[in-house]
Amino acid sequence: MVRVRLENVSKTFKGGVDAVKNLNLEVKDKEFVVLLGPSGCGKTTTLLMIAGVYKPNSGYIYFDDTIVNDLEPKDRNIGMVFQSYALYPHMTVYENIAFPLRLKKLPKQEIDARVREVSSMLKIEDLLNRKPSQLSGGQQQRVALARAIVKQPQLFLMDEPLSNLDAKIRVEVRAELKRLQRELGITTIYVTHDQAEAMSLADRIAVMNRGELQQYATPEELYNNPANTFVASFIGSPPANLLDAEVVLEPHPRVEVAGASFALPEDLAGVFKERGETRVTIMLRPEHIKVKRGKGFTVYSTEWLGREEYAFLRAPDGSLVRAVLSPEERFDVGEEVEIAFDFRKVHFYKRSGELIV
Ligand code: ATP
Repeated sequence: MVRVRLENVSKTFKGGVDAVKNLNLEVKDKEFVVLLGPSGCGKTTTLLMIAGVYKPNSGYIYFDDTIVNDLEPKDRNIGMVFQSYALYPHMTVYENIAFPLRLKKLPKQEIDARVREVSSMLKIEDLLNRKPSQLSGGQQQRVALARAIVKQPQLFLMDEPLSNLDAKIRVEVRAELKRLQRELGITTIYVTHDQAEAMSLADRIAVMNRGELQQYATPEELYNNPANTFVASFIGSPPANLLDAEVVLEPHPRVEVAGASFALPEDLAGVFKERGETRVTIMLRPEHIKVKRGKGFTVYSTEWLGREEYAFLRAPDGSLVRAVLSPEERFDVGEEVEIAFDFRKVHFYKRSGELIV
């Protein structure tokens, strides 16, 4: 398979849109990397540069140790899958899957063997004689995947391939895709704006915003140690609370947040003594907040999600804080509560967004 490396890659479109800015990224051989970010952040542009459809304005793209900037898309040995399945409507499933191999003028017998093998892998053997219009969305996407796999590419490029499927099928095909990628060991770069999808599929996730890479790390690392407030707000479901706060060191170290005050452990106080930074934003994940009966906060609304119950709490200063409620205790809307949390799980950011600790 292949290792892909982007070195200082930028793309500006006519009209001056800086779609991708100075991107550095390395995708290891056999790795599954997801490009994640909101609409317009440059994910698709990045993917299409790797595919060779767009040329970077500056920087280099390497496949292993070879610069491929000037290599035609058809010579890159890639399999692409998109949101729209782009199957040929007049061909049967069999013919659709066989198509890339016929282009390569492989012998009929080999084509047949490969089509049957990949169809069995994707559990679509029974559909080979149907036309795309006779298939469900999930089946069509499996056929599109089969057509990409049958070419035995060295690299998969996928752009929101599951977003046209309904929720249940999406989770099913997603699991299948992950299994296949592992089994085939094909280096994969996958674009999505759905953080849950990214978390479930990726070995590593490249979080992008406004054409810039925000953080490149494993799903676990992104969840536990977001590098800035953008990543902190984008990763995690339901999303983290990001609250403006004030660190006060005298007479006792504490954090003033949402109109409430919490004692700050000595080691953290030491960090702020040294840095002199007092106006901060803190990230508090709902699952790290402990809610108990008390004073200060009020239960504003609750939401039962099957396994867990979430609540919005109205803070003393009027802002809303999202928390997970413990399964042992029931709280009613309007009830008065207090919150506690472990400062070791809290991250502090500058108001400009960069991580402090
Ligand atoms: P989405 O999830 O909506 O597809 P994306 O993260 O894939 O978004 P891109 O499609 O890469 O984003 O677009 C990045 C920026 O470049 C956007 O501002 C977009 O409007 C702009 N852009 C993309 N393609 C072109 C083009 N062919 N010409 C001009 N501007 C473009």
